[in-house]
Amino acid sequence: MSTIRENLERIRYEISHAAKRAGRSPDDITLVAVSKRKPLSAVQEALLCGQEVFGENYVQEAAEKIDAVSEHRGRMFWHFIGHLQRNKAKRAVELFDFIETVDSLKLLRAINRYATACGKIMPVLIQVNIAGEKSKSGMVPEDLDAFVETMLAGDLSRVDVQGLMILPPWSPDPEGSRQWFARAKELKERLSARFSHDLDLRHLSMGMSGDFQVAIEEGATMVRIGTALFGEREPVSA
Ligand SMILES: *Cc1c(COP(=O)(O)O)cnc(C)c1O
Repeated sequence: MSTIRENLERIRYEISHAAKRAGRSPDDITLVAVSKRKPLSAVQEALLCGQEVFGENYVQEAAEKIDAVSEHRGRMFWHFIGHLQRNKAKRAVELFDFIETVDSLKLLRAINRYATACGKIMPVLIQVNIAGEKSKSGMVPEDLDAFVETMLAGDLSRVDVQGLMILPPWSPDPEGSRQWFARAKELKERLSARFSHDLDLRHLSMGMSGDFQVAIEEGATMVRIGTALFGEREPVSA
């Protein structure tokens, strides 16, 4: 079994190769190490290898880890990547540096309110349900323009909307994800053009262990990688 250090080296190498294939700079791609359902020791080991950006799906689980490594807080960045219930939004704003999964105006308003209370500006991404799957959260692409218009009309100065996040339909073959990554990129460019005065959509968070190279070729600026870095997760117990 390979170690976290070896995995991290391999992933970084693959990220930079995919970036070069696409004529992009590897520096424009952030590796988000997804440590959900992995022990604190895994986070600490990755941190020792220089990994600074981590992703978590569950507020409570993340709180324990973030607290345990608080001495390194200044050089660690925590991204929330799970489904965020509004009653957990306050805690998420307090704990995290980035929320990638905003899927409603109500949630965005709640984040804005708590960010005001904490005295911070919260960077966020809009989660897009790119294929309109029933099982997934996120805004459907058809609703995005209206969403952005309403958002811009509201007084939401404490959230900084930096881009889009997607989770494409499951596919056994990474090439199956390509069309969805390409659509997300198109969507981001179209919104950027339309709202160029009011929005700076610089990020596209897409690509996981199985398909991050394809995502980078299609324009991802953040890849969220768990299994390829930390190994298989234990199944969730019922
Ligand atoms: C778990 C998770 C990941 C990481 O998935 P892997 O296949 O383990 O790399 C990425 N993004 C989200 C939203 C996740 O929930």
